[in-house]
Amino acid sequence: MDPLTWIGEQLDQLRQADLARELSPPLESVGPTCRVAGRELLNFASNDYLGLAADLRLIEAAVQSLRDVGIGRGSSPLICGRSTGHLRLEQQLAKFEGTKAALLFATGFAANAGTIPTLVGEGDAIYSDSHNHASIVDGCRLSRAEKHVYPHKDVDALERLLQDGQKYQRQLIVTDTLFSMDGDLAPLPRLGELAEQFEAMLMVDEAHATGVFGRHGRGIVEYFAADHPQLHDQVHVRVGTLSKALGSAGGFVCGSQALIEWLANRARTYVFSTAQPAAASAAALVALQIVAAEPGPRRNLLRRSAQLRQQLQHQGWDTGQSASQIIPLHIGSAQQTMKLAGQLQELGCWVPAIRPPSVPPGGSLLRLSLSSAHSEDMLARLLSALEVVRPSGPA
Ligand code: PMP
Repeated sequence: MDPLTWIGEQLDQLRQADLARELSPPLESVGPTCRVAGRELLNFASNDYLGLAADLRLIEAAVQSLRDVGIGRGSSPLICGRSTGHLRLEQQLAKFEGTKAALLFATGFAANAGTIPTLVGEGDAIYSDSHNHASIVDGCRLSRAEKHVYPHKDVDALERLLQDGQKYQRQLIVTDTLFSMDGDLAPLPRLGELAEQFEAMLMVDEAHATGVFGRHGRGIVEYFAADHPQLHDQVHVRVGTLSKALGSAGGFVCGSQALIEWLANRARTYVFSTAQPAAASAAALVALQIVAAEPGPRRNLLRRSAQLRQQLQHQGWDTGQSASQIIPLHIGSAQQTMKLAGQLQELGCWVPAIRPPSVPPGGSLLRLSLSSAHSEDMLARLLSALEVVRPSGPA
């Protein structure tokens, strides 16, 4: 018998439960619209929150870098993969985050998965929000530390766990700052206080917030630090990605000089993985300059997101606790969510159906990701489509 038969059986089960993922059709463009199967659709699926992925300034910087230093880096950054462009971006990222140093990883996933096992191991404890991203979950698993998953944003439950934590050598609290499924914010000021009180390390993942939140677009730490300036010192490890609002690709960690040196020595996804193409760094460097110089797009994005959220609630949709450019429409059943996503596509809107295991069983949702590149007219078209497909009764 073919030893891989079981895979076919498992896939059949997924299909029967409406949980099978299909490879997405290849897209030839990024931006607020896309062509799928020959049809032009409004794209509400992308994390390109500032529309920078197709910005000519980023493209030109990347092309210049390709001409100067080629495509592949040929080795890990520790061997000979690190370029001047990487170094320059690391320096700018450290400035951007207000830390002493920064380190680039090939992806944001690699940054999380590689960093956590360098901070904690056997005999240590991790406290992780139940809605944290898969890359954090995997980093926790790889670490061999004892894992305590606290209920989403439940700081009282976290405090009780920490009170029990004297037996551990080191303790790490880790959280997304802007949760990728619900678009809600972590209670960072309270997490900062708890980290200080219990002498725990605090690591945050700003993947969806970089470039969007905070006065200078630096993320949720900056956003909350406006009223809680001590937060800057209470957060020890800041992870981010270049692949969302910054329109490029790659991940990064910012923190103290010692932390960054430690990661360069010990983070296996850094040490044993080929460096990110320098062209991605070159593009991200320009994106950082744009974020610094142009606050308008991110402010518009958050203003329009708040407006749309209200309109959606008015239509009867359950947008959960969203407070950002990510707006979930909670549906529940995977089957119903798939049906609605299909109907929306028929009406010209590409809105992804998010099903388990990305969300808990029974927690399927349609996830709207807004971008400053979406015009008022595009959002109006989305609203009209949602009005048409809206299930009768409470959504
Ligand atoms: N953290 C969070 C919260 C994310 O949503 C993602 C990407 N979906 C990542 C990390 C991984 O980043 P990247 O796509 O750069 O690997």
